[in-house]
Amino acid sequence: MTIDLSDSDLFKTSSYVGGQWMRDSSRQLAVMNPATGEVIAEVATIGAAGMLAAITAAHDAMLAWREVPAKVRAQVLRRWFDLMMAHQEDLAIIMTTEQGKTLAESRGEVAYGAAFMEWFGEQAKRIDGDVIPAPSSDKRVVCIKQPVGVVAAITPWNFPNAMIARKAAPALAAGCSIVIKPASETPLSALAMAELAERAGVPAGVLNVVVGASSEIGPALTDSPLVRKLTFTGSTDVGRRLEQACAATLKRTSMELGGNAPFIVFDDADIDAAVQGALISKYRNSGQTCVCTNRILVQATIHDVFVDKLVAATAELKMGNGLDEGVQQGPLVNKKAVEDVDRLVRLSTEAGARVALGGAHSDLGPCYYQPTVLTGITSEMAVFRNEIFGPVAPVTSFADEAEAIALANDTEFGLASYFYTRDIGRVWRVSEALDYGMVGVNEGIISNEMAPFGGVKASGSGREGSKYGIDDYLEIKYILMGGLDR
Ligand code: NAP
Repeated sequence: MTIDLSDSDLFKTSSYVGGQWMRDSSRQLAVMNPATGEVIAEVATIGAAGMLAAITAAHDAMLAWREVPAKVRAQVLRRWFDLMMAHQEDLAIIMTTEQGKTLAESRGEVAYGAAFMEWFGEQAKRIDGDVIPAPSSDKRVVCIKQPVGVVAAITPWNFPNAMIARKAAPALAAGCSIVIKPASETPLSALAMAELAERAGVPAGVLNVVVGASSEIGPALTDSPLVRKLTFTGSTDVGRRLEQACAATLKRTSMELGGNAPFIVFDDADIDAAVQGALISKYRNSGQTCVCTNRILVQATIHDVFVDKLVAATAELKMGNGLDEGVQQGPLVNKKAVEDVDRLVRLSTEAGARVALGGAHSDLGPCYYQPTVLTGITSEMAVFRNEIFGPVAPVTSFADEAEAIALANDTEFGLASYFYTRDIGRVWRVSEALDYGMVGVNEGIISNEMAPFGGVKASGSGREGSKYGIDDYLEIKYILMGGLDR
């Protein structure tokens, strides 16, 4: 083991299926620390047959789990929450080592992920049905809610813990079982969570984590008639393909896909607060979150003063290995991510954008890219139209409110959006006009377990977290009872 943990049993290197750690694969997946380039683990992968075994185990376990009283399911989730918080530091170290984000962000993500266990455990006890007025006096009508069945979850590398927690917690609370396929870059966080789920008392087969090549195990998941729901977080392109693959078996789907978040600063805003909001929203996880600010739109009258302040604040960000205390910007997840970001910057500068800060690789290592601010961005530029997924802040100026809204909505995406103003009328007008699933007003960070997270348009469908989040894992059954007068 190359990671120094207090509890070394959290370091797992094989899939978890039917309550067993499967160690029989000859194929290994190398997990890399992007800060150092060092291989930190070789994880045994399983193919389509292993995935089918996981689905069968999940199906068999689900038949018993759905009969477990909600209160008991809640207690299991509460123990999982307690264990995640008790092992927050180890989980954070694993995450930073395989993904690159700073230790402070990893600690925050573990707490955020654990909060879903707590929240949905509580929600398990509130899966209420309805009694509906009957069409005649000899009849009664009731609705009950039941688990959808076996759930498949496919998750990305940028939030290796929370994207799993946000799906597993409502699934288990509802009485479903789950088969999780984590991203190949970050399987260790997922496997550590499975170890803690087992300790919390999640029965064998109710939660499974399968590590393997998506080209092999993906079709096994999407084609299986036993899997009744697919919940996916990842890129829009892969989401589209998975929707099509699920059509044959008519699975329910939830899609948490890419974003292209606008961050609008009106000239009545508190500029310093807006700069701080932009900084945290743009550079969190080195720009690799789906809700990261992707385009900064600034009213022309305050453009120069805002840019000067943003450049000054961005220049202060300390970049380095996320494990080192005080570091605020870690590496990107791999070299390809750096190349993709650099390509967008090059395309923009060739089209006339100006580099106000950064704009190049960092000499810290092949996975580092300098925090960057670009100005003179127009709506035709690639950096305006695409999800950047890196530490690049492109700034566009606008004349008035109508132009700001038009620019903000000029994208196929519709996940998160942000704006800064102190005018209460504008707060309502702009909130309602933005074609997005989420709006932050005078705030750069909006996610929490009690609020509904999700997007519209090419950013997907469904909501995670909140009182609505459990609905995606429940079916409504209507029961008509007749002959009651006799
Ligand atoms: P990705 O390439 O779409 O991969 C996401 C997951 O899908 C990974 O586990 C990947 O497995 C798997 N996958 C890829 N192709 C597959 C296929 N054909 N069949 C089955 N599974 C397949 O996305 P990413 O690069 O990991 O994540 C970044 C994207 O996620 C960004 O677009 C970001 O905006 C989005 N995201 C959205 C949210 C949200 O809540 N809306 C949250 C976080 C991230 P392998 O790793 O094995 O290829």
